[in-house]
Amino acid sequence: MLIDLHIHASPASRDARDDVAAIARAVEPLGVDAIALTDHGPGCDYAAAAAALAERGIGLVPGRELNTPLGHVLVLSPDVVWLRDLPERSALPVPGGTREPFALVWAHPAGWRIAGAMVAPDPSKGAEHVHAVEILNGERLWQLDGVGIAETLADRLGAGTTGGSDAHRADAAGRCLTLADGARDAREVVEAVRAKATRPVLGSGWAAAHSHVYERPDLRAYAWPGNAPAR
Ligand SMILES: [Zn+2]
Ligand SMILES: [Zn+2]
Repeated sequence: MLIDLHIHASPASRDARDDVAAIARAVEPLGVDAIALTDHGPGCDYAAAAAALAERGIGLVPGRELNTPLGHVLVLSPDVVWLRDLPERSALPVPGGTREPFALVWAHPAGWRIAGAMVAPDPSKGAEHVHAVEILNGERLWQLDGVGIAETLADRLGAGTTGGSDAHRADAAGRCLTLADGARDAREVVEAVRAKATRPVLGSGWAAAHSHVYERPDLRAYAWPGNAPAR
């Protein structure tokens, strides 16, 4: 299964432009099987989102993006009631109370800013609680060394690795993806993240649709022709 594991939609993310239906239309031709909605706020209507995505044959991995001492952390779980109640600012570990599996992904670890200043990743602030590190983040793909910093962190932590677009508009969805071989639904995607059975890949369908070429040497390892459009 090919999943965009980091997407914001309006209105649950105030900084997002497009709603779930627009995102579904945008990713359908890109060969993406599922997306994770990782809104900052608690306002995502997961049932309505799942229905809008299902119309286009796309699955939903429910999620949130929380503000933690580590920086931004994606929480993924099939338990939408538990997700909805998580505070936008949270300590680590996140509050329990779910019987469903959940996975924590340290999002864009090299791109954490406070008042405009870059803050270096500091694993001492709770990194032992994350299951994976986001290696490819579509919003920060142009940040020099960002991929390398995230790779080094994932290595040091013995954590899994993922990719996601961090899209705040529909035409940015599908840029960066996560491959979870064999996973068939949200629960199995979460379990794959926990088991380090995922890998980040660049969205070749998105790149073809936008005539974009990934030339940087640090990105070449993540090129994956599996969702390139048929010729
Ligand atoms: Zn973020
Ligand atoms: Zn985000």
